[in-house]
Order: sequence, then structure tokens, then C-alpha cells
Amino acid sequence: MSVETQGKLIRVDMTSQSVTIEAFPEKWKYLGGRALSARILLEECEPDCDPLGAENVLVLAPGLLAGTSAPTSGRLSVGGKSPLTGGIKEANVGGDPGQDLMKVGYRAVIVSGKPADPERRYGLDVSADSVEVIAADEHKAKWNYPLIEDLTQTYSKKASFISIGPAGELQLAGASVACSDHSQQRHPARHAGRGGLGAVMGSKGLKYVAIEPGRAPSLKPADKEFFQLSKKYTRDFVAGPGQEPFPKWGTSVICEEANSLYTFPYKNRIEGRSPDVETLDGMRIVESFETRGGGMHNCLTGCIVKCSNIVHDANGEYKTSGLEFETLTMLGSNCAIAHWEDVADLDRLCDDIGLDTIETGAAVAVYMDAGGMEFGDAEGTKRLVREIAEGTEIGRAVGNGAAAVGRLKNHHRVPTVKGQAIPAWDPRPLKAAGVTYCTSAMGADHTAGLVVEPGQAPEEFARASQESQILNAVVDSSGFCQFLMPNIEEIGEFYSCFYGDKISRETVADMGWQCLRDEWEFNKRAGFGPEDDKMAPCMAEDAIGDETKFVWDVPDEIVKSTYERFDPREELFTARPS
Ligand code: SF4
Repeated sequence: MSVETQGKLIRVDMTSQSVTIEAFPEKWKYLGGRALSARILLEECEPDCDPLGAENVLVLAPGLLAGTSAPTSGRLSVGGKSPLTGGIKEANVGGDPGQDLMKVGYRAVIVSGKPADPERRYGLDVSADSVEVIAADEHKAKWNYPLIEDLTQTYSKKASFISIGPAGELQLAGASVACSDHSQQRHPARHAGRGGLGAVMGSKGLKYVAIEPGRAPSLKPADKEFFQLSKKYTRDFVAGPGQEPFPKWGTSVICEEANSLYTFPYKNRIEGRSPDVETLDGMRIVESFETRGGGMHNCLTGCIVKCSNIVHDANGEYKTSGLEFETLTMLGSNCAIAHWEDVADLDRLCDDIGLDTIETGAAVAVYMDAGGMEFGDAEGTKRLVREIAEGTEIGRAVGNGAAAVGRLKNHHRVPTVKGQAIPAWDPRPLKAAGVTYCTSAMGADHTAGLVVEPGQAPEEFARASQESQILNAVVDSSGFCQFLMPNIEEIGEFYSCFYGDKISRETVADMGWQCLRDEWEFNKRAGFGPEDDKMAPCMAEDAIGDETKFVWDVPDEIVKSTYERFDPREELFTARPS
């Protein structure tokens, strides 16, 4: 195996602020991203530990193909025990840190321990020549945008950054980990949002990681055929008529269709359609490019999908980027906030403070539903989100997520699974997606296995969910972005050429299944059982839809059957399900 494919491992002990570099273990050769994070956590983290204690382990693991010339393949997995769910969590993120870590030879960063003084802040400097923990007290409590502006004065123009804002420092369970994007300014606009991993980073006193890629080239594959494969894949993708929506309009183009399927939640999910879909539709963002500037871009080096939008304000100044479908629904329609420009302001606030927009939107909607604020109060919501950074009582509750607000307000309608807010994709019309929310070790997370096939027969739910969960585990371990929509066969071809071993589609599917098993095993050891695989009661009580009424009514036996692998010979994996 070449040095490039073997790589190294960084261990950071935040108790002593010391660093050790190790050779990457041979036994983990084919593990990257999410699957590597799951294995490290299973082997090195006590599942019943305090998520904010010294024993928890924060993993930063680029996907297997990050740092290579494979298109759209530089994603990073951020992993740890979640302070939101108490179970294992992996949040997958774009931006350049995943590419850069791999290019300088590191296949994972494993952060353990915590400083004796919780007031101290540290940075981690990573380059091909050295890795060290440095004091960073001057950056304490900085929001992500000013932090990155300051760091870009200190580091080279090529450096990329992983950081937390005040929500992470306050160790709130809705805190995200920000990654700088591919823009010249290194905007901290890409977030490993779900599960509160920003709080884990904050508990370790780690304010940021800076990666200097220097002149490190792309990683060399074992088989030169890899370059031809990358070129052909790119050519076919660009020519493919079915790939048009995301590169042209981004993920927010889906608003109208989601609304028609009753999966555009309105007023804390009391309804599945919003009367404001027209003013929230992502097409309004695309229209704004003409007069204000902005446009579509690639959030990471080498992305050919370019689904990320850059949003400008009325003066033509940059406001935010990556304003996606989930944010427009959860911080928009779910709170009855009617205009995309208000959601853009909220998206910028969340990115700056370091918050998951899905969890924050769900928490604000529960607060509104419980009478804390009027639905539709956009300015009040902006004030409330700012309070999260200030650490007020209600700010902390909202920053800790929907379940925390439900407890504070003693409210009955709290749409969560395993303590994590249900994303926009609604389990009542999309029942196989609901099965994913119940059975994923990570709780309600559409990126764990989304199935957008309304009207499926009940006997199809578990199989569809399982297949989607395997595929997503594979993709999140590969470094490819889910929006590229590679299938398992194609991923196997890339692995075969990169490593020089024949890796079949069956082997790749088995890797995905093993990743799920590792995650389930972690949760089992953390004390999770069948009682935790329950959909929020309000999903069974509150019907949505006009002629057809949708409620969550999937029997437990169907949910449970997702844990037994269906006949692998019948797995299709021909296309992504949405
Ligand atoms: S497809 Fe979109 S989210 Fe994925 S890497 Fe490219 S720009 Fe980023």
C-alpha cells in the first residue's frame, strides 16, 4: 500500500494539550468518514460516558476518497457521542477541511480529554510538517464569521478551518461544527449541524482547527485508471439531463414539490403545507441573483454539482450561503415566517452563532406553539436566536433543541425521535423515512436514509428504509456528497482503482451494513432499547392532509424488522431515492 493510501492519524489529548501522530492502522484500511468514526467510537469511547465529559471522543474523519481527484468527494465526518440524543452521532459536512486533511496525509483526528480550566480556549494547527495545540484565548466567545475573518489574517490564503461559535462554547445540544467553504473569504457557512457535536468540541476547549494544505497535491491512486474514471464520471454527470435541478437551482428548488406532498411543515407541524410556499420558494433566491449578485457555487474543491447558493442582501452585499430546503422550511414555514429573506437572516445568525438550523427551527416552533411567541414573528425570532449566544434562560433552552423547549414550557407537541427534532421531510406521508428516523442510531435525521416515495405499501417501508440507510452509510463513508447521487457500483469502481484491489458492489454494501451495525452496537451499550425507537406521539395524533389524512401509524413490528438485513442479493441501489 502506498503512503498516500495508508496515511496517518492525529491524536489530541486536550487534558494535557498534547499531540501524537500515529500510522493509520491497517485494520481500518477501508474505513473512512462515517464508518471510521463509528468504529473509532465503538473501540475508544465508553458508550455510557458524559457526552460533555473528558471521556467523550470527538472524531474528524474525511471520507475514503477525500483528497483525491474523484469529483465531489472531499466531505468530512464529524463524530462523537451526542449531547442531544445520548447516542452515537455522525454529521457529514462540506467545505475544504476534509480535502485538506487528507492531502496533508491525515485520515482522522481523534480528540479526547478536556482542559482543567474550562475558561481556556485552544486552536489546533495542522500542516504536513507539524501538528500542535496552541492557546487561543483571544478568540473566546467570537462568532464564526469574525473568528474566520481574524484567522485568515494569521494563516495562509489556502488554509481551511473547522470552528465553533458561542453555542458550542456554551455547550448547547443544538450547537454545530462549522467548516469553511471554498470561497476566497473562507466563509464558515458549511455546518456539521445535527446532534450537538459543536458542544462536544466546546467541552474540550477546542475553538478551531486550522489546516494548511501548502502545496500538497491530490492523493495518488494505486491504479492510474482512477483518473480516467474520474474524468468519465464528470463528463457523464455534466451531460446527464437528470442532474439539472441541483446545479442550477440548489436544494431549495424542491419547496413546491415538498409542499404538494404535505412535507412542508407549517406551525410546528400542525399542517403539512404552508400558505407561504410562494414567498419561501428557493426560486425567489435564484431570481435575486439577477439584481443583487450572488449565485451558485461549489462548497468544496472539486465539487461538480455546485448546489450551494450564495445569497446577497438588497445592497448586493454577501449575507449567507448554503441556504437550503431544510432551513427554509424549519426556520421558515414551520415557524410561519413567510419570507425567504427573513430566513436568510436567520440562517446567517445560526451559522455565525454555530447552530443547527433544523434543531433551532424546530425549537422556535415548539416555543411559538406553547404560547411563548406569535407564529410568524420574524423579528422576534431573530432576537430569540441572538439570545442563544447571550446564554439567557430561554436562549439556552432554544439552543438545547426542541425537546428542551418542550420540557421548559411543559408542552405536549414536541416532534422528535431519540430527542432529536424531526427534519422537514415528514414521516406521516413519507413512512419509510419515518422508519429511518425510528431505527437510525442517530434519531430523526433525513441524511441517515431519506425515502421520498409517498403511497408505498406498508410491507415496503422497512426494506426501503434499510436500503436507503445502507446507501447513505456508504456514501457518507466515501467522501462523496449525497447530492452527487453516486450508486454503490460506481463507488466500488472508484475504491477498486484507488486501492488497486477488486472491491465489488456486494463488498461495498456490506461495508455500509457494518457501519450501521457498529452504530447500533454503540447505542445498545449506551443503554438504548426498543422503547427508544418510538416516533413522537404527536405524529400519530395530529393528522395532516386534505382528502387523504396522514398520521404515523406504522406498526412496531415493521419498524423492528429494519434491524434484520433483507436478502442482500435483492438490494437494488440503482439510484438514490430522492
Ligand atoms: S453538492 Fe452541494 S453540498 Fe455537496 S459538496 Fe457540492 S456544493 Fe457542497
